[in-house]
Amino acid sequence: MEKKGLLYVDTHSHLYDEAFDNDRKETIERAVESGVKKIILPSVDSSTMDRMMCMVKEYPSVCKMMIGVHPTSITSENIKRELKVVEENYPLYDWVGIGEIGLDFYWDTTYKKEQEEAFEWQLDLAIKQNAPVSVHSREAMDRTLDMMSRYDVRGVMHCFSGTYSQACRVLDRGLKIGVGGTVTYKNNPMREIIRAVGYEHIVYETDAPYLPPVPHRGKRNESSYIPLVVAYLSECLDVSMEKLSAAAQKNVEEVFGLTL
Ligand SMILES: [Zn+2]
Repeated sequence: MEKKGLLYVDTHSHLYDEAFDNDRKETIERAVESGVKKIILPSVDSSTMDRMMCMVKEYPSVCKMMIGVHPTSITSENIKRELKVVEENYPLYDWVGIGEIGLDFYWDTTYKKEQEEAFEWQLDLAIKQNAPVSVHSREAMDRTLDMMSRYDVRGVMHCFSGTYSQACRVLDRGLKIGVGGTVTYKNNPMREIIRAVGYEHIVYETDAPYLPPVPHRGKRNESSYIPLVVAYLSECLDVSMEKLSAAAQKNVEEVFGLTL
């Protein structure tokens, strides 16, 4: 199934997570061997910063990093402090984008107001710095898109799981659709949505260690599984893996400026 010679970028992976503490080096080697030559690491909050930076120092040609505060990390007590860390660190290092940022009303809506405030602040930063964003949106797609309508920002709707009309809104906003392992799950509507909007608008991601594709469902996800997702889509859509990887790479270059 996997074709040799095709190259990919994993546009969203938490490879600094403790889940990889025992075999991080091997995981990166497997990724590179499978054609996943670059891996973009999104921040969660200030607590993940050190681990992420260590990885980028150790694997500078493979790992690139984004800075940002994840919506579920925000509380009324820490919002100022967390955003200050972003503000202070932004000029100091080489970030390929701002992420992951957005809204998550699935787990808890206690800090809805603060989530929106942090999202806007980080969208402002993206505009000011002309940086792309990696957007997390759960149980909040319409609100996320409403808020983004005031920002002419490029980026990715990470792990998109909305409806066809929401996918159209994402594209109208000028964003790409992040596709990962969940597209391979039984009865997942994403493959039909991709067929309808066109594979030219997507980028691939794992969100590792979460959401592995079939046949690894229920286990740990990793970047080397990206070709499995592409092979699956190739069959569903009847589009060659070459075309799928080339289209995604064009988007990665456009959004993140990363070449392979
Ligand atoms: Zn993530």
